[in-house]
Amino acid sequence: MMQARKIIVRGIVQGVGFRPFVYRLAKQYGLKGTVSNNAHGVEIEVEGDHVSMQSFIRSITHASPPLAFIDEIETKESSYKGYLDFAIQASNGSEDRFTLIAPDVAVCDDCLQELFDPADRRYRYPFINCTNCGPRFTIIQDIPYDRPNTTMSVFPMCTDCEREYNDPENRRFHAQPNACPVCGPSLTLCDSKQNKIQSDNILDRTAQLIKAGSIVALKGLGGYHLACDATNDEAVSKLRERKRRIEKPFAVMIPDRNWLERICTPTQEEISFIRSINHPIVLIRRKDNSPICSDVAPGNNYIGVMLPYPPLHHIVMREVAIPLVMTSGNISEEPIAYKDDEAFERLAAIADYFLVHNRDIHMRCDDSVGAVLNKRHTMLRRSRGYVPYPVKLNIHAQKNTLATGGHLKNTFCFIKNDFAFFSHHIGDLENYETLRSFTQGIEHFKNLFSITPEILAYDMHPEYLSTKYALESEIPVKIPVQHHHAHIVSCMAENDLNEAVIGVSFDGTGYGTDGNIWGGEFMITTMGDFKRIAHFEYFPLPGGEQAVKEPWRTGVALLNQVFGNEYKNVDIPFVRSIQTKSALAVIEKMIQQKLNTPVTSAAGRLFDGIAAICDVRASINYEAQAAIEFQMIANETVTGRYNYEIDTKSIPWRIKWNGIVRDILKDLQNNVPVSDISGKFHNTIAMIITDISEKIKKDTGLHDVVISGGVFQNALLVDKTVDYISKQGMKVYTHARVPPNDGGLSLGQAVVAMHKVL
Ligand code: ZN
Ligand code: ZN
Ligand code: FE
Repeated sequence: MMQARKIIVRGIVQGVGFRPFVYRLAKQYGLKGTVSNNAHGVEIEVEGDHVSMQSFIRSITHASPPLAFIDEIETKESSYKGYLDFAIQASNGSEDRFTLIAPDVAVCDDCLQELFDPADRRYRYPFINCTNCGPRFTIIQDIPYDRPNTTMSVFPMCTDCEREYNDPENRRFHAQPNACPVCGPSLTLCDSKQNKIQSDNILDRTAQLIKAGSIVALKGLGGYHLACDATNDEAVSKLRERKRRIEKPFAVMIPDRNWLERICTPTQEEISFIRSINHPIVLIRRKDNSPICSDVAPGNNYIGVMLPYPPLHHIVMREVAIPLVMTSGNISEEPIAYKDDEAFERLAAIADYFLVHNRDIHMRCDDSVGAVLNKRHTMLRRSRGYVPYPVKLNIHAQKNTLATGGHLKNTFCFIKNDFAFFSHHIGDLENYETLRSFTQGIEHFKNLFSITPEILAYDMHPEYLSTKYALESEIPVKIPVQHHHAHIVSCMAENDLNEAVIGVSFDGTGYGTDGNIWGGEFMITTMGDFKRIAHFEYFPLPGGEQAVKEPWRTGVALLNQVFGNEYKNVDIPFVRSIQTKSALAVIEKMIQQKLNTPVTSAAGRLFDGIAAICDVRASINYEAQAAIEFQMIANETVTGRYNYEIDTKSIPWRIKWNGIVRDILKDLQNNVPVSDISGKFHNTIAMIITDISEKIKKDTGLHDVVISGGVFQNALLVDKTVDYISKQGMKVYTHARVPPNDGGLSLGQAVVAMHKVL
């Protein structure tokens, strides 16, 4: 008895070799019919006997291609048409276009094999790819994902490539970026004035230039990198100077896995993270005496390491055979350059040479950065290799939502159905270029996922450009979301938590509902609402932003709070050193008269101020530098703690940190090493979190603790917090797929807004 079925597969099923997979499967079971891409995913019409049909349907889920992500399979009865064969049909772009798109992924092992096989026709061809690997998100201009809608449309395939492309048995069947040296993109090497450098072997030549100490701008998947020899002090300091990046760590690309152990001490989890198909930069503890220049990540125990991911990197890395600094092609905080003209314009003063190619990048996409926190692969910057994979929500949105994110490390986020499309890293919305990247990104996502937002969520901070964008938008329903509420909900959403939790949000800054700067917050949190239960006692930030850049100001403010004018009699190196600062008198006046001096409860600022008091760092060159360096020097095995009090007379409770400052001063005067002080300070903060969580549990019965915010990028603090709280029989939820920092804010905003309109 012959049966006919119509099967619709939803998920990431386009551009990942799904149709040929279905084709081969149908052939294997002797079934007839068709498979095609449509606006919803992949549609299969299939005819055959019952038993084969059942095995076929089962195998669709169990044996799907590596990049595929099946969200749902719908099977319905269909009328028997008597197909004679099984065929793959062309895509049809139609009305409600909504399909998921795969991210750009690292070259697969099969392609890598061919890349270094002298007998292969793509031997050392830097644009080799197949349906299981290669560029996706960065080359798609429109949907459906077909070659004419990508930046590969300008390269007509040669007959060999075309044959592969049309052969369902071939690994390159419908591989949209398929190309070879005959028909595909090619490389050009130039100097910074765009003069071509003639060479028989451009890649060898590039490697020689890098080894000789040059800085080379390399066009990659999502933008330009600046590359130089990471073992050459002179080259690294030249790059720092030209890029105007004083001390912020650089990422390093290593030639192969064997290099990992030579430059750092990876754990098993870190190794599996760095080798995952997404190939992020992973922060791993660096080794002493490694060949990497200390200036690559000054004052940091960790180093950001990645493996080569596109074939071009593989060839270059094989040639140079040393680790390279691989940093975004930009000047300091601007977005990464990705168009050739602008790259030459913006990077000419930095790079000595340019290795470019003629496959256009349609969407810029920075490297992703991750770290193992609480034993989980945690994204700190979620971008290339992950975007635009959605985060699946356990609730179905009635209305499409857009959230505009925060100010620093901006991302935006769309919610449609039960998917959150959380954008690539946009950057700090502080200049025109980044703002343009933000607005263009939003338009691109709207088009790619056919989303017309009806609800708009944004941060409460009136001065954020993302807020101003939101207020000017024509989207009818606008919902402001408190910064720390958004942080906690972003973590709840990725952990599938729907009920009220004890939310702990620690970061450097966030606009509070009382107009003060929050950032050391304990909130009973639901998806749609929060109640502020406790926070660090407010302290002044003399000069606001200026205090963020100069933590010594915060140090003065903390001492002033504890000792009043007597603070200058405290005999520690910090107090001696600030006496010479001409701004000191002004700062004292600002604190006393509350001039341009907001107050804050931010844990990040407390870390800053304490780091300054301990003479670790007076002013910073990159975000959170003082707090990071204070963490880096910590003696992690020290067990002591400092005294604090929790004033529970009224809600919100206030965490009084005076005792901490007094105890630290005693330690400083007794010559306790700063590394021990840092260790004890971390213990104290973890204890405060545990203590307050327990108190809230006692009052409310809640026992799930959710921690989020930039301070929880601090691995030491996360591990201690999880350890202490777990011992009290409560469960701690941390981030993994969504960054704990402001890069994750947009997801939280979108989810909060969605619940507020329910
Ligand atoms: Zn491949
Ligand atoms: Zn070709
Ligand atoms: Fe934040």
